[in-house]
Amino acid sequence: MFLHTVIVFGMLFFRRESAWADNAGAGSSWILALFSAGAYVMIALAGSVASTRLAFARMRNKPDQLSEVGRRHHHHVDLIRGYLVAGFAMLFYLSPWGRQVYAIELGPWAKIVADVIVVAPYLAAAVLVWAATYPVDRAFREHAAGPGESLAADGGMPSRRAFVFYNLRFHVLIVALPMLAILFASNAARGYGGTLRRWLFGWPIAPDVVVGAVAMIVFLLSPLLMRRVWTVVPMPAGSLRDRLERMCERIGLGCRGIMIWKSDGMMINAAVMGVVRPVRYILLSDGLLESMNDRQVEAVLGHEAGHVKRRHIEYFLLFALVATLAVSGVAEAALHLFPAMSAGAVEAVGGAATLVIWGLGFGFISRRFEREADLFGAASIAPDLDTCTLPCRVHSDTAVGRHDDVADDREGPCATAANVFVSALDRVAVLNGLDPEEPSWRHSSIASRMRHLTGLAADPAMARRFRRRLSRIRAALIVLSVLGSAASAAYVAWGDPMLLRGGAATNVESERSLADRTGAARR
Ligand SMILES: [Zn+2]
Ligand SMILES: [Zn+2]
Repeated sequence: MFLHTVIVFGMLFFRRESAWADNAGAGSSWILALFSAGAYVMIALAGSVASTRLAFARMRNKPDQLSEVGRRHHHHVDLIRGYLVAGFAMLFYLSPWGRQVYAIELGPWAKIVADVIVVAPYLAAAVLVWAATYPVDRAFREHAAGPGESLAADGGMPSRRAFVFYNLRFHVLIVALPMLAILFASNAARGYGGTLRRWLFGWPIAPDVVVGAVAMIVFLLSPLLMRRVWTVVPMPAGSLRDRLERMCERIGLGCRGIMIWKSDGMMINAAVMGVVRPVRYILLSDGLLESMNDRQVEAVLGHEAGHVKRRHIEYFLLFALVATLAVSGVAEAALHLFPAMSAGAVEAVGGAATLVIWGLGFGFISRRFEREADLFGAASIAPDLDTCTLPCRVHSDTAVGRHDDVADDREGPCATAANVFVSALDRVAVLNGLDPEEPSWRHSSIASRMRHLTGLAADPAMARRFRRRLSRIRAALIVLSVLGSAASAAYVAWGDPMLLRGGAATNVESERSLADRTGAARR
């Protein structure tokens, strides 16, 4: 749901008011706008109610195949969430909803109110989906808790209201709140674009730079927000915390604290939040701690630490830069080939290029990074010669002493450590009701990750190949972002940047219409 929410807010962020401003007005449009928004929400509700009924009917008919019923239900809910985004795109671009709401006259500082109203149907639909599918989650929880006392205790399941509120905070608000802050800055920068440009030496992209800087600050400080929005408490002192702290020291992962993420056991998850150490937290969910042994918890923490130590977020930012440059390049080329292209068509070309580049490139890199984090996790829990019990390359007689550095994953992991890690992955799949073979765009399937790690432990040549491939990905990202930035700077300075001129014109235009409006209000 994070990504869904990001995409929905992305639409608000990259809206084109100039195209909407002309044809606002007709009174009947409000009726149509409200009707569209209502229909969007009702379809989401109807879909969730139907999938809930279907799940209960299946549970009655096939009480012996509950995991299959659960899988199908998850799949249906995923489809409904996909609809929340696709349907919102239709509501936003094809119906009068966005146009009508943004036609309400608000100054740059108050424009955020319009943003909130526009996105409200998405938030309402998300809430209704959780509320309507709650009984299925509860039934599965009661079943998982076993017969007997579980029914009286509800399997520890929270009330419907708590469930909805928890999911809303966890999946939506954590993204929505920072996005609203950035939108607020963007509205102001659009509204006062001319002034900003005058202040910043007539720089045409001054407003975008200001918004980018605000976004960067919000991003860096987001772990502090997370502490407020999610229910997160410091891990109480004890043997597990000592163990985890020792491990962090061993692998050189600095952080502000190890926290427990309270979810009434609903969440089996772990994360390291924060790029910079002073605002970096390690999060382990209550569900994870209850259902895994200490070594498995270490393995999960090692995986998350791998993302930090191998600088995955930084490389993703480089990817975002390269992707943005590539998308602008494609749109620019299209504009040169077909100068008569409408702004909407340029946007469609840019949108298609974005989908292709992110869909292929981001998925590819993310799945490799995920495996690298698995490898790091296994290496960071590597036992010593005495506690390594499996036939193992790292701890074989000939290899003694080679593995001094704990998080040394160059030659592939210790077989025992890989085994612990694989058991933790298996646990994650079982507890989340996931099919291990189910493919995942961002993470690849859990089963393929298990096979990969086991393969690395057995075959040093495979481990070396894997390392080489990751080095090549990193080198490509660095080279492409340096060359791409240099080329686009040169193009802006000496070439004929049509896109930038178009963008600048839109900004000036919106500022002029703002001045007209405020003038009109004064009169
Ligand atoms: Zn990961
Ligand atoms: Zn070993």
